[in-house]
Amino acid sequence: MKKAFVIIVLLLSLLLAGCRGAAPSAETPLDKPEDTVAAGEQEEETIRETEEENKPAEEEKEPTEEDIKASIDLTLYPNELGEIMILMYHGIGREESTWQRSSDNFRKDLEYMYQNGYRMISLNDYARGEISTDPGYTPIILTFDDGRQNNFNLIEKNGEMVLDPDCAVGILEEFKEKYPDFNVTASFFLGTNPFGQAEYAEEKLNWLVENGYDIGNHTYSHKKMEELNSEEIQIEIGSVNNIIKEYLPDYAVETLALPHGSNPKEEFTEYMLEGEYQGERYSIIASLDVGWRPAYSPFDILTDFSSLYRVRASEINVDNCGMYDYFKLYEENKRERFISDGNPDVVTIPKRHEEYLNMDMVGDKLVYIYE
Ligand SMILES: [Zn+2]
Repeated sequence: MKKAFVIIVLLLSLLLAGCRGAAPSAETPLDKPEDTVAAGEQEEETIRETEEENKPAEEEKEPTEEDIKASIDLTLYPNELGEIMILMYHGIGREESTWQRSSDNFRKDLEYMYQNGYRMISLNDYARGEISTDPGYTPIILTFDDGRQNNFNLIEKNGEMVLDPDCAVGILEEFKEKYPDFNVTASFFLGTNPFGQAEYAEEKLNWLVENGYDIGNHTYSHKKMEELNSEEIQIEIGSVNNIIKEYLPDYAVETLALPHGSNPKEEFTEYMLEGEYQGERYSIIASLDVGWRPAYSPFDILTDFSSLYRVRASEINVDNCGMYDYFKLYEENKRERFISDGNPDVVTIPKRHEEYLNMDMVGDKLVYIYE
């Protein structure tokens, strides 16, 4: 019942969104045949009845595969095998430097993303292939390494501790308020000292999780993973996992940013992905490198979740591989970015990419291939 209802609501909202021209390319309005719209109206009737009478699930009519495909707007050229950028930030502060973005430039980045059809998703959702980005938009992932105080800083104001409006979280919250459909979220990769201000660590971590952000692991002592054996790897990851667990007993840390982008020796990769330290187990679903290009779609056979590419969110020393280099290539259609079909239960791809589709990641989602 719930699933059918969700799909119907989704169908309906897609149709309505199309009619209102909510899609990014307003100049290409949705050209739906009359009968599709009529079907949408019928669905609306059905929902009203259901709500009034609270009928059991069995009486709901499941939308057919054809209904679902018809709800996808191909004029937006959905391409769910296009690239997704995982942006790598470190500090956010007054001055711009190699490993610090200025607050003003960070605001510039966010404004660019919003105005150019990017919408945020969490790294955890990416790793699960759960992408519910609005139709026609491109998912983008924000990550912050090292857990610096300027990522999440509290300042005193009128005798109270409040969020610093120029720290990373302060600016993200500003954009969350300004653009509710930006879907603001980010992953913060922490070591042993989350965001300085030790007395507020517990409060900050809980606030982040309650407000739609994620916490990732950046290891205990920031060593190169390639130099560690299986036991050392488990100490490095497991100890941070346990520290975060103390603050957040119900939150599972599932992502890892590799210090210096250093991957473990191949025979030890399994200990990075699954391990145990002092009786507590950890399990990593996404492990991040440092550079140098956009990640593939999670549905692409080329994606390696144990070594995901990131793009440096900087304009200094980026060797033509910084965020704005790739933004420009997408603007000029020189690379293909992921364009969502708007339905998380459907993977829509152009036929030319069919051979790259990873059916293990697709799972029980519907595949829609178009020419
Ligand atoms: Zn680091």
